[in-house]
Amino acid sequence: MLGMVKELLVQLFKKPATNKFPVKYAPKSITGLLEKVEKGQAKLNEPVPVPEGFRGRLSYDRKKCIMCKQCIKVCPAAALEVDEKNNRIKHFVSRCTFCAQCVDICPTKALSMTNEFLLSAYDKKQGFVEVKEQPKEKKEKAIAGEK
Ligand code: SF4
Ligand code: SF4
Repeated sequence: MLGMVKELLVQLFKKPATNKFPVKYAPKSITGLLEKVEKGQAKLNEPVPVPEGFRGRLSYDRKKCIMCKQCIKVCPAAALEVDEKNNRIKHFVSRCTFCAQCVDICPTKALSMTNEFLLSAYDKKQGFVEVKEQPKEKKEKAIAGEK
């Protein structure tokens, strides 16, 4: 009983463990909130940093892909398909279980998991975030560990 009271008191004065993301109180309208953020009238709370090895949205480097389809074979959620038209792999985020089996099997490291976890979208067919060539200056800074 004494332990319970002690814990109760500790919790009363502790900072909340939850992160008020993206804002302290639920807005009446998300669109309205985003408009305010764009105008600088509102500020979003940063999400908490993800831990090392976090499995977020898949990233796909088309230049490295040899179309061996190994990723499609191992995917337990049928979240990967061939995009014949564009000669690339297609990814359905809404089906993905973020197991990373496709990443592990890819022989050319064309697939990787990112830290991105804000994945809700109106379009269920939303696909990969492709690796984009960084501008030279940014790339050099990234290598040097600068922001
Ligand atoms: S396993 Fe890798 S190289 Fe093979 S098709 Fe998938 S992404 Fe491309
Ligand atoms: S992470 Fe898992 S579920 Fe998602 S596409 Fe890769 S193999 Fe499929």
